[in-house]
Amino acid sequence: MSEVAIKVVVRVRPFNRREMEQNQKNIIRVLDESTLVFDPDEDEDEFFFHGAKQTHRDITKRIKKKLNMEFDSVFDDKKCNEEVFEICTKPIVTSVMNGFNCSVFVYGATGAGKTYTMLGSENNPGITFLTMRELFSQIQKLECERRFEIGISYLEVYNEQVMNLLTKSGPLKLREDSNGVVVGGLVLKQIRNAEELFELLIIGNKNRTQHPTDANEESSRSHAIFQVHIRMTDNKTSVRRTVKLSMIDLAGSERAQSTKCKGLRFKEGANINKSLLALGNCINKLADGCKHIPYRDSNLTRILKDSLGGNCQTLMIANISPSSLTYEDTYNTLKYASRAKKI
Ligand code: ADP
Ligand code: MG
Repeated sequence: MSEVAIKVVVRVRPFNRREMEQNQKNIIRVLDESTLVFDPDEDEDEFFFHGAKQTHRDITKRIKKKLNMEFDSVFDDKKCNEEVFEICTKPIVTSVMNGFNCSVFVYGATGAGKTYTMLGSENNPGITFLTMRELFSQIQKLECERRFEIGISYLEVYNEQVMNLLTKSGPLKLREDSNGVVVGGLVLKQIRNAEELFELLIIGNKNRTQHPTDANEESSRSHAIFQVHIRMTDNKTSVRRTVKLSMIDLAGSERAQSTKCKGLRFKEGANINKSLLALGNCINKLADGCKHIPYRDSNLTRILKDSLGGNCQTLMIANISPSSLTYEDTYNTLKYASRAKKI
């Protein structure tokens, strides 16, 4: 298997209260499990409007994009984290057990549902927890033939600086050795079950760098990289393999200028775009079958070098809001997602 496997799915979140109250138009129509229309015709108003008649007509002045787009999967606003897990990341666990590094990204503007998808809440766990639970269940079935050692790390790339979210320390230095990129001073945290993990995720998430911006008070300007390192040793042959599963909650993809950031905030925006741009470039080049992949262009892509391309499986979950309030962001996210899909 030398082919690059990149899957791209789109998840549409429900309207939030503000969007409902402002009677915003729904600019996404999910047709089936793999297709959606961006900015559909209004003929079928009733179908697209939430509640009463729309009051804002400004959006109608714009030329309708009416784009039909196809992805590996499309999840409408009724789908829950469990369903996203079943279709998207459950198969990935099997690949990990078969020895392939895998990575899962959530991409999208602030407020589009990335953290909801990845982390969720205690009553509604996100795909990281569900995926880890599946991982432990598969491990249990294989324990008679292999020995497993599991360590996790939870890093943040903020302003191109690498921080350890579990110990709230850093910045950590990246260096390259014969095995690839090494995060200096990083100690993996050993865990034995998925429950132990949930607490660590909560702690890590509390340690994420967050700054209010105009776009969203809880805007996250950092990339959070959760990695599970699995060492499996075959009981009979003593052959040892190490695989990695990476799950990445990317920073908001909205443009810095649209959040009216100034000074330091603006610099954050620029660096976030640098990392997202580098990631996009790497994924596009991989999808195009290029030989040279520009991993070195950002710290995010350096850390993920061994988890992108080659025999790795990559899943991109593009999160979008269905509201005309975020028309440009949604359009840009879908554009990014469909470029990543192009093979
Ligand atoms: P992001 O991490 O992309 O900035 P969040 O995950 O924080 O966005 O989501 C923004 C808000 O929308 C949160 O209040 C979250 O609970 C809600 N939300 C996001 N996706 C969904 C969903 N699929 N179903 C219900 N609520 C959602
Ligand atoms: Mg978030």
